[in-house]
Amino acid sequence: LEEQLRQAQKMEATGLLAGGIAHDFNNILTVIIGYCSVMQMRLLPADPNRNSVDQVLAAAERAAGLTRSLLAFSRKQVMNPRQVDLNGIVRHVEHFLGRVIGEDITLETRLAPEPLYIFADSGQIEQVLMNLATNARDAMPEGGTLQVQTQLVDLEPGRIGFSWCSTGRYALLSIADTGMGMDEATRAKIFEPFFTTKEVGKGTGLGLAMAYGIALQHNGQIMVESELGQGTIFKVYLPITSCQEAAPPPDEPRAEAQAG
Ligand code: ADP
Repeated sequence: LEEQLRQAQKMEATGLLAGGIAHDFNNILTVIIGYCSVMQMRLLPADPNRNSVDQVLAAAERAAGLTRSLLAFSRKQVMNPRQVDLNGIVRHVEHFLGRVIGEDITLETRLAPEPLYIFADSGQIEQVLMNLATNARDAMPEGGTLQVQTQLVDLEPGRIGFSWCSTGRYALLSIADTGMGMDEATRAKIFEPFFTTKEVGKGTGLGLAMAYGIALQHNGQIMVESELGQGTIFKVYLPITSCQEAAPPPDEPRAEAQAG
């Protein structure tokens, strides 16, 4: 619990800091991009300075992309939760997911037979799924299998690692890959904002921090199991809304009167 609290405080502080910096940077970048675009338009195609201006513009646009991710991460994302079926969310992004992972990776989707009603912002849950799938793809440069699964599970805080939950039903979204996996030291840091093992320009280190924040905001949790050289599985637990918890009312007519 202490570890979770420390992580949450760190996220909060980093979020505030990042948001402030991102905002100021955005203003600066707008000026750079604006003037560069004007220069680009005024230069003839054969002008020797043309290439330099193009390079500056491309770099500034990359920086603007990064600031946008930072802003999205730091903004206390306004939640727009509704009762939604987790299976529906997975189905909705399945096609897009297939495109993101490419042809060398096989996508296997296994959905729970029953709808999994959660009170959630479906856009944010889609974001979590996309972030996890993108990481899985990056972990399988030679191809492999990405398995996306949903299940209905009963949890209780007595189990090791589950002190965060309350007794009840949860929708479990698991994303498993057959990729490179990670060692203990890496695994300990992956949810920290800006932690990345990817080369500059490829990773921002914000994907999992964002996924973690979203899971917590939904009263859920995200967990990881990983084996070097074997693969990784991320498990996202989200509480089932109470209407699925309630057993359907029995069909038989009500008892006539109470005893006594
Ligand atoms: P980024 O993807 O930009 O690096 P993330 O926060 O999404 O940022 O991930 C942080 C790090 O966690 C990655 O750089 C990688 O080292 C590790 N990681 C995440 N997902 C996986 C995975 N499925 N397999 C192996 N390593 C992973």
